[in-house]
Amino acid sequence: MEKIKFGVSACLLGEKVRYDGGHKWDRFLTGTWGKWVEFLPICPEVECGLGVPREAMRLEGAPVAPRLVTVRRRQDYTGQLAAWAGKRVGELEAAHLCGFIFKSNSPSCGVVRVKVYADQGGPVKKGVGLFARASWNISP
Ligand code: SF4
Repeated sequence: MEKIKFGVSACLLGEKVRYDGGHKWDRFLTGTWGKWVEFLPICPEVECGLGVPREAMRLEGAPVAPRLVTVRRRQDYTGQLAAWAGKRVGELEAAHLCGFIFKSNSPSCGVVRVKVYADQGGPVKKGVGLFARASWNISP
């Protein structure tokens, strides 16, 4: 039987691509879904040129159009990730994926309720990761 094809945040497959060199391996995904699904792993932060390890980052500013900024050195990677995502999303359309499984809470991959830090006050859980947002218009 031919497997259906899903894109997936690479850390969920156990790839050590997180900022700290770790992963977030989801064994249900690889063990159960993996019987029927072929995965196309993508790590936006690595693919756009940030290395492993890298500085932790977060969304800042307005929830509808936040910036991707590193926590300690305050480097803004919004443009770099957005430029990569614009190109990569075009390639993914050609791959005819049946869906995409995104890592939650990530400033790049999170789909809902990602923390966004305002200039003042605490974070609000109203953000969408930059790559997840760029991927919304992909059609199978
Ligand atoms: S950018 Fe996405 S795929 Fe990469 S480590 Fe973060 S959550 Fe995982």
